[in-house]
Amino acid sequence: MPAHILHTALCEVLQKIDNAAASSGRPIPRLLAVSKTRSATEVAELATALVQARSTRRIEGEARHPPAFGENYVQEARAKQDALARLQSSTGTLEWHLIGHLQSNKAGDAAALFDWVQTVDRPKLVAALARHRSDDQPPLNVLVQVNIDDEASKHGCRPEDVPALAAAIAVEPRLALRGLMAIPAPAPDLALRRDAFARMRALFDALATRYPQADTLSMGMSEDLELAIAEGATMVRVGTALFGPRASQNAR
Ligand SMILES: *Cc1c(COP(=O)(O)O)cnc(C)c1O
Repeated sequence: MPAHILHTALCEVLQKIDNAAASSGRPIPRLLAVSKTRSATEVAELATALVQARSTRRIEGEARHPPAFGENYVQEARAKQDALARLQSSTGTLEWHLIGHLQSNKAGDAAALFDWVQTVDRPKLVAALARHRSDDQPPLNVLVQVNIDDEASKHGCRPEDVPALAAAIAVEPRLALRGLMAIPAPAPDLALRRDAFARMRALFDALATRYPQADTLSMGMSEDLELAIAEGATMVRVGTALFGPRASQNAR
């Protein structure tokens, strides 16, 4: 996608986010740009556009965050990070989030490559990530992924398992418990999806009462980010609305 089109798409997404926050009286959530299947060049272009957009858009605290990108696969993220280093683009520091399912045998690679892992859904993964996160790096930020609609096909823990997982994360010095993440069922009925977001918000409020360091509720994608923001998302994960449709849409 040409850089000026990417810039226009970004401005539209930011406007949508700002409007949704304003109309529901919520703080403006962070934008995670989902870069799976996109090239390193596209990532560099979007990072540049984000930094430009930021200078004209005053969000409290926003300047503290580097541009953030979400990837579903460990290997793809590694290849892209290497390619970006070779491009020697002037993007500065980027923040990388794993948003795809993580197998325990990849936990070592994930702990080294990512700043955040949003898909922690079982005790074994907590232990593996904690063991592999190097002392040279800051603690790994983690979100507990919740299977909020109890779908057989989806990863994520059950809502009632959140307290035990959160407790296991909170005692690990190499991990930082930051909150919850969910991918609600693709209900054609928007009211149903909104209900799932509201149930996530209730879980998150309970978690944040117990753990004040939990400040992140990651939910909402290109299609439903406004609903998610209305229910209190603090981070939205957006791919298609920024970069256009993915070629391998069905495979993902
Ligand atoms: C692909 C993906 C997204 C982005 O979806 P879009 O519809 O392209 O915005 C967000 N979250 C997760 C977990 C994803 O896998």
